[in-house]
Amino acid sequence: MLVRRLSGVRPAGRSTGLFHAVVRRPFSCFIKIFCFTDSSSAKRLKSYLKFVVCLFAILFLVPVRVVPDEETAGALPLIGRLDTRDVMFKQFSADVALGRRAVFSRRGDAAAEELARGLILYAYTPGAEDDFLRIAARCNIPYDAIATLNRLSRIPSFPGDTLILPTMPGIFIPEEAGSDLEKLILSGRGGNAGASIVVNLPGEKRRYRFIPGDTFTPNERAFFLNPGVFRFPLQKFTLTSAFGRRISPISGRLSTHNGLDLAAPAGTDVYAARDGTVIETSENSVYGKYVVIEHEGGWTSLYGHLSSINTGLRSKVKAGILIGRVGSTGLSTGPHLHFELRQNGRAQDPVRLLGGVKGQTE
Ligand SMILES: [Zn+2]
Repeated sequence: MLVRRLSGVRPAGRSTGLFHAVVRRPFSCFIKIFCFTDSSSAKRLKSYLKFVVCLFAILFLVPVRVVPDEETAGALPLIGRLDTRDVMFKQFSADVALGRRAVFSRRGDAAAEELARGLILYAYTPGAEDDFLRIAARCNIPYDAIATLNRLSRIPSFPGDTLILPTMPGIFIPEEAGSDLEKLILSGRGGNAGASIVVNLPGEKRRYRFIPGDTFTPNERAFFLNPGVFRFPLQKFTLTSAFGRRISPISGRLSTHNGLDLAAPAGTDVYAARDGTVIETSENSVYGKYVVIEHEGGWTSLYGHLSSINTGLRSKVKAGILIGRVGSTGLSTGPHLHFELRQNGRAQDPVRLLGGVKGQTE
């Protein structure tokens, strides 16, 4: 059976092979059985059996398949199983191979429009046994492409909604950013990056900017893979001292640095790195003025050398809420924030948890 592909990014309204299989073919069987004139009983039986098989196909296939309707623009070709024995998946895999080759041989905004014209979309409804990252691996498409196209802000659990699968790697930015992740993606790339595309879904039209070949930044990856993850407590900073062994800037001796030193002008806003409860607001000779916030999962975060504390003890705080201002109190050589993350009392490297400090380090 020839499978006609239907790209969701183009004006649609054509029938697919599926339509042919489940609607037209049984219909023609139906015509045959009532219109045959030469009636040897063997032929008659054969036609009858054909009819029963077709009827069975209609009854059992129609409810679980999307039957593209001439009126419904953009019903996507539906992959039954992520298995090369599935004719639609086989077709999808061939399209992915072409899509990947096109994207990796041509980069940049100038090529985006042209590449986007070759983008084809398929649909797949995951079952309970499916796993999001494994689906992406099976499809040979990076998970960030599937995540952004489907507007997911975290790893979905299955069985769930039907996923749209693109045949090219890249990032899809919806016209109007909704989730925090989408806002983050948009703020890092600008509204005019990539090519403008329209995805026609049954009863819905979605507009995106598609940036072929683009991937999540480490921060976006952390956001998606660990929702409720820590975020940096400063909007802008320079990492002046990393986590781990270092020569102390004060004593000149080798010591362990339990956090990050983030330099920023005195008075810069310091935000809570994650939702939690303030369990300490105090001052000592080392940290100067400092705040400790307790979070879910045995985590605490510490913010040191503050010039002022702008939260109260036992306050419930949200991630991104102002809790203090950068200063140089305590054992400090200049205005900076000493930022620590501990789990069950053990210091952890914030950079690892935040997925890197792209564009912020010096
Ligand atoms: Zn420090």
